[in-house]
Amino acid sequence: MSKSVTYIAGVDLGGTKIATALLTTEGHIVERKRLDTLAEEGPDAVIERMAQSVRDVQKGRPILGVGVGTPGPLDSKKGVVLHGPNLAGWTNVPLRDRLQNLLQTEVKVENDANAAAWGEYVFGAGKGTKNMVYITISTGIGSGLVLNGELFVGSNSFAGELGHTIIDPSGPKCGCGNVGCWEACASGTAIGRYARESAQAGQTKMAELAAEEGVPVSAKHVFAAAQLGDTAAQAIVDKTVHYLGIGLANTVHSYNPERIVIGGGVSNVGDFLFDALREKTDSLVMPPYRKTYEIVPAQLGGDVGILGAAALFLGKTSGTGVR
Ligand SMILES: [Zn+2]
Repeated sequence: MSKSVTYIAGVDLGGTKIATALLTTEGHIVERKRLDTLAEEGPDAVIERMAQSVRDVQKGRPILGVGVGTPGPLDSKKGVVLHGPNLAGWTNVPLRDRLQNLLQTEVKVENDANAAAWGEYVFGAGKGTKNMVYITISTGIGSGLVLNGELFVGSNSFAGELGHTIIDPSGPKCGCGNVGCWEACASGTAIGRYARESAQAGQTKMAELAAEEGVPVSAKHVFAAAQLGDTAAQAIVDKTVHYLGIGLANTVHSYNPERIVIGGGVSNVGDFLFDALREKTDSLVMPPYRKTYEIVPAQLGGDVGILGAAALFLGKTSGTGVR
């Protein structure tokens, strides 16, 4: 490749927004653009808008290619979106080939959680490791695996779906249809649900904080109230840490990672949560595993989607065939 080619485009396709950026190979964003997805217009219109957003940030500059992160299951080797849970009409859409035709440049497509994992590995909190697990805790729990320095996507691009590993068979029902999945027990949505259940039993500090903001009670208010010493909120934090710790210990036992990187809205709570998670996980792993791993916050924040998508053009990602 030519030495003058130092840019990559990254596209983060979401149910409501398309975020696109032009990056240097060091991960510095030089141009960015945000558009409404307008998913109701169907795949053709959305793909055309994605292509236009790339042209808008590229401004004719040479690029290595276009990396795309998409929600839901996909065949990353073929770049086909199998099903878009928040994207109407997206069934078996050959996104990679369609974008390549429109842009006349190489395109790589990956599941958004896998792309985020790769982004943290290349540019963020996973830098310098060989085995890293990325976990994002927000409305759901998503994850991605970097094993032996490669993004591991499995036989069908479905690997690393830790949010749907069952950790409590008598737990709450999950959106996937099963019962007791990790995300049904410990996601931001689950924490908000625990808070509402608690509020039904009487007025709580959590509900008070939410009322002051004029918004429904959510995970944010639970952690804020717990840090103010509220016992009802602390009970929810303890329950959440219990479930998160089980999933993290399972992760340590499964992959023996050097580092577990945690992102997503819930990770913004900071040390109050991370200290508890480290202690809980340590108490659940078998003795030889202790001190073999770190649990750290993600570093890329809201840009992880576009950075991760662009990073598909850097390093070794098994799903996209780069070695
Ligand atoms: Zn599930």
